[in-house]
Amino acid sequence: RTTTPPVLDVRDVTVRFAGLTALDSVSFTVVPGSVHALIGPNGAGKSTCFNVLSGLYRPASGSVRLGDTDLTSLAPHRIAALGIARTFQNIVTTEGTVGDNLMLGRHILSRAGFAASALRLPSAVREQREHLARAREIAELTGLGPHFDSPVALLSYGDRKRVEFARALCLEPTVLLLDEPVAGMNAAERARTADTIRAVRAELGLSVVLVEHDMGLVMRLADEVTVLDFGRVIAHGTPDEVRRDPEVLRAYLGT
Ligand code: ADP
Ligand code: MG
Repeated sequence: RTTTPPVLDVRDVTVRFAGLTALDSVSFTVVPGSVHALIGPNGAGKSTCFNVLSGLYRPASGSVRLGDTDLTSLAPHRIAALGIARTFQNIVTTEGTVGDNLMLGRHILSRAGFAASALRLPSAVREQREHLARAREIAELTGLGPHFDSPVALLSYGDRKRVEFARALCLEPTVLLLDEPVAGMNAAERARTADTIRAVRAELGLSVVLVEHDMGLVMRLADEVTVLDFGRVIAHGTPDEVRRDPEVLRAYLGT
């Protein structure tokens, strides 16, 4: 399909939980700058896959590479610092302002890279100012600009999901993992989120791995789709190819 080396290379990843094989030799690659959707029925292994990619689960076998770097079984904070950021299926943020939450994302970044400079006051102050400016830019990009100083608890559900998204972007990731970004949103919020994902991908040039049940969104946003069922890859291709695949239809219809 392409000669560009993949940004993310997941190879033969197997994860077992006491007798259950949640991922069975799963492989896929992500083309730089693309949106790669990971779909499949409930329990297929999509969140487990994200947990491996972000370092929360250690695979029994297989490897994960980000560019030339082997990430397999590194600690979550190391993986985040190397350029993989994620959002979770359920909202985790309820405290502080939008700005506070975005600055949290920036702090993870500084701890990883510039811990020493934090000891020298003038540069630490300058760094803090730069982080704040960048957090404001990311708020603008994700439609949270007007809410930067608002408490997260007062935002609409859609905007709180946006905060998760923006906080992940504050890590300046190379690869962004989005776990059901529009779950629970109404149609207008879904459309807005799709626009935001598209805008961010274009503006920041990052690659996105998208887990989503909303097939309309997957079809509109994804360049490639990998389909999981019972922990195995059952199909891979463009959204159109995958939609017409008999095995995919079977997995979804349960026939
Ligand atoms: P999906 O996100 O595609 O709905 P999951 O990755 O959450 O699926 O789950 C895949 C399978 O692994 C399911 O059968 C689920 O019950 C099981 N599973 C997920 N996490 C754990 C865990 N921490 N311990 C035991 N089983 C788990
Ligand atoms: Mg899931």
